[in-house]
Amino acid sequence: MDNKFPGKDITIEDLKSKFPLVAKKNKNHRSTFNVSGVEFGKDLVIFAGPNMVESKELIFDVAKNVKKIGAHFLRGGAFKPLTFPYRSKKYRETREDGIRWLSEAKEKYNIPIITEIMEEKYIPLVAEMTDIIQIGSRNMQNYPLITACAKTKKPIMLKRHYGASLRDWLGAAEYILVEGNKKVILCERGVSVPHTHRSTSRFLLDLQVIPAAKEVTHLPIVSDPSHATFWRPWVRPMALASVAAGADGIMLEVHPDPKNAAVDPLQPINYKDFRSLLPEMIKIYNNI
Ligand code: PEP
Ligand code: MN
Repeated sequence: MDNKFPGKDITIEDLKSKFPLVAKKNKNHRSTFNVSGVEFGKDLVIFAGPNMVESKELIFDVAKNVKKIGAHFLRGGAFKPLTFPYRSKKYRETREDGIRWLSEAKEKYNIPIITEIMEEKYIPLVAEMTDIIQIGSRNMQNYPLITACAKTKKPIMLKRHYGASLRDWLGAAEYILVEGNKKVILCERGVSVPHTHRSTSRFLLDLQVIPAAKEVTHLPIVSDPSHATFWRPWVRPMALASVAAGADGIMLEVHPDPKNAAVDPLQPINYKDFRSLLPEMIKIYNNI
C-alpha cells in the first residue's frame, strides 16, 4: 500500500477512510479555536494545577497562584483513575465536591477549568461545570464514553493511552469529530516501554509524536511532562523540549507543597518553579 510516511503505520488511505475529519486537508491546515477566551493553535496554552482536587483550600490556593503566574487553565482531577484500589483518607477522591470546588475556584479567580471524566453518568454534571472535558489515557479507547462526551459539544482533551500508536489515538479522536464536535485537543503524556518501568520513570515522553501528529492532523497537541516523567527534576527540561518539538500547549502538575501532594508527590512542581519555567517556555515558543 502506498505509504508516504515511511516508518509509521499511517497510510494515505487511512487519512481518507479511517480518520478523514482528523486528517489535514493541506500542508498548512491547522485547527485554531477559542475555548473560554483562550486561542488554541495560536498561543502556547498552559494548563496547571494539582493532580487531584484534594480540598477546597488547595484548589483555591492553586487557582489564585497559577492564574497570577499566567496559566490559562486550572487542572485537577475529582474523579481519579488511581492505579491501585486502596484509598487512605488522603487519597480519597473528592468527586462531586471536587467538581463544585473547581467550579467555585473558576468563578472566584476567573480561570477556566479542565477535569477528567471516567463514567458516563457524571457527564451532565461535569459538562455543566467544566470548560474542557479530559478523557484520561486509560479511557482513550472507551468509545461509548468518548462518544457521549462528544455529544455534549464541550471541548475535549484526549490523552494518549501509553500503549497506543498515533494511528489508534487519531482513530479515537475521529470518534469525537464524527459527532460534529470540532474542539479536540490531543495530549501526549508518555508511553510505556519496558525499561522505563522504574519507580522514578514510569513512562517515556514521546517527543517525536508531536511533529509526527502535525504531519497528519490539524488538531492542536499538548504535552504533559509531569505524567510522563513522574519525576520533578525532569519536568522542566521535558516541558522545554516539548515546546521546541512544536507542542501547542503544556500541561503541568503544580502544587504548593509537592512532597505532600496526595497523589504522585514526586511529579508536581511548586509555584516558584512554575513562575520561572513559564517565560522560558514562551521564549522558545516565540522562536520556533
Ligand atoms: C491526569 O492528568 O490527572 C491523569 C490521570 O493523566 P493520565 O490519564 O495521562 O494518566
Ligand atoms: Mn496522575
